[in-house]
Amino acid sequence: MNAEDFRKYGRKMVDYIADYLENIREREVVHKVTPGYLKKRLPDEAPENPEDFEEVFKDIEKFIMPGVTHWHSPYFHGYFAAGNTYPSILGDMLSDAIGCIGFSWAASPACTELEVITTDWLGKMLALPEEFLHCGPGNGGGVIQSTASETTFLCLLAARNKIVDKIKKENPDIREKDILPRLVGYCTDQGNSSVHRSALLGAVKMHKLESDENLSLRGDTLKEAIERDKNDGLIPFFLCASLGTTGTCAFDNLEEIGPICKASFYGEAEHIWMHIDAAYAGSAFVCPEYRHYMKGIQYAETFSVNPHKWMLINFDLSVMWIKNSSYLVDAFNVDPIYLRHTNEGKVPDYRHWQIPLGRRFRSLKLWFMLRSYGVSGVQKYIRKHCQLAKEFEKLILDDGRFEITSKTVMGLVCFRLKKGNKLTELLLSEILEDGRIYMIPALCRDVYFLRLAVVAERTTSEDIRFSFEVIKTCADKVLRSSGDFKEDEPVFVDIDLSRKKPTQPSKIKTHK
Ligand code: PLP
Repeated sequence: MNAEDFRKYGRKMVDYIADYLENIREREVVHKVTPGYLKKRLPDEAPENPEDFEEVFKDIEKFIMPGVTHWHSPYFHGYFAAGNTYPSILGDMLSDAIGCIGFSWAASPACTELEVITTDWLGKMLALPEEFLHCGPGNGGGVIQSTASETTFLCLLAARNKIVDKIKKENPDIREKDILPRLVGYCTDQGNSSVHRSALLGAVKMHKLESDENLSLRGDTLKEAIERDKNDGLIPFFLCASLGTTGTCAFDNLEEIGPICKASFYGEAEHIWMHIDAAYAGSAFVCPEYRHYMKGIQYAETFSVNPHKWMLINFDLSVMWIKNSSYLVDAFNVDPIYLRHTNEGKVPDYRHWQIPLGRRFRSLKLWFMLRSYGVSGVQKYIRKHCQLAKEFEKLILDDGRFEITSKTVMGLVCFRLKKGNKLTELLLSEILEDGRIYMIPALCRDVYFLRLAVVAERTTSEDIRFSFEVIKTCADKVLRSSGDFKEDEPVFVDIDLSRKKPTQPSKIKTHK
C-alpha cells in the first residue's frame, strides 16, 4: 500500500469506525455464529499475490462483523465497562505509526517521559498517596501494563523475591528451594480469578479468605489466617486486596487489613506485601464522593487500575503504581550491554518495571483522552454510569418481582427474581435467546444472580429503560410458564457462563 492508498483507506477506515460506533445500537449486540464459522468462509492459505484493499474492506462487514460481540453497544451489560473513545483510538493510531519499542528511555525518550507524566497525572486525579508518584518523595511511580492480571503476577513475583531475600539474609544457610514451598499469599474469596492464576504461575500457595456478609475481607479473618498458617510453618508474604470485586463490586476493608500486613505480630514485623486490585472501581476515585472506599491505601505497596475498563481508554491500558520501584528494578535486572545507555538512573527504564522487554507507546492514548475530556469530563462520565445503574435499580425494585442481591455502589446492578436461583437461570436463558441485550450471571454463596453493568459511553436513560423492558418481558414469559414453581436445589453455574445458543432464530428488534 502506498501513501496515497493509505490516505484513501485511512479516511475510509476512520469513517467506518465513526459510523460503527455512532450506529452501534442498530447492530445485534451478540453474534449468532458457531465455532469455526470463519474457517468455513476464509481460504486455508494466505493469498499468493497482493489483493486490492477495496476487496479487503468489503470483507470486514461480510466476514468479521458477523462474529463480533459489540462491547460498546448500550445493550451490552456483561462483565464490566470497557473503555473506548475517539481520542483514545487516535492515540493508538499514532502509537502504531511511531511504532517504537520503548524498553528504555533512550529507545524513544518521549515514550518513557509521557508515561511518567500521565501516570502522575492519573495518580493525582485518583488522590493516590504521593509515595506512589514519580514526582513523590521516594522512588515510586506509575507504569502502564497490559492488564491487571499481569500486574498482580508481577507484584506477587516482586513480593516473593523480597521475602526470599530477607529470609536468606537473616539465615545465610537456608536455601531458596526450602523457602518457596512455605510461602503463602492471601486474597478474598471474591478475588478475581487472575489472582489465583498468579499464584499458580508464581508457584506459591494462595489462601482464599472468607469475606463478611458485605463480601468484604475483614481484619480478624486475615489475622486468624496468618496465625494459623504461621503455626503450620508457613510464611505469609502477599495479600491481594480488592476494591470493586468482579462479581458484585465489593470492597475489602483496607483500614483493617492494611495495618496487619505491616504490624508487629508475634513480636516481629509482618512483611506482607499488600497489592490492591482496583481494576474496575479504581477509576471512580476520580470523584471525591467514592474515595472513602480507598481509605487505608497508604498500607499498600502497589495499586492497580484499568483505564481500559472504566476510564474511556480502549484496551489495553492498565496502570500499576508502586511505592518502591527498586523492588522491581533491582530484583529483575538482567541487563545485557546492548540495552544500556548513558542516561541510566535519571529516568525510569520501564523494561525493568514489567515482564516483557518490548513496550508500546500507550501513554499517547491516555494523554489524548485526558486532554480531550479533562478531569471534569471523566468525572461526568463516571457519575453518569453510576446514575444509570441507580435508575436501573429503581426500575427493578419498582417491578416487585425482583430483588437486589448486593448494594449498588457504582455502575453495576446485581439482581435476581425473588422466586430464586432456578427461575433466575431460566430468565437469563430467555434474555440470551431474545438476543436484544447481553448479560452474564454470577453465583455467590449459593445465590445465583444476574449482573447488569453499564458499559458503553453512549448509554442513555432511554437505553436503560429499553434493557429493563427486555428483562421484564422475558421475566413475564418465564414466570407465566413456571406456574406454581417452587425453588429447588441451588444451581452451580460458572460466572463465565457463555451465551446459550438460541433453539430458534431470535426475533431481533432494534431500538428506535
Ligand atoms: N481484577 C478485577 C477486579 C476484575 O474485575 C478483572 C476483570 O474484570 C481483572 C482483575 C482482570 O483484568 P485484566 O483483564 O486487565 O487482567
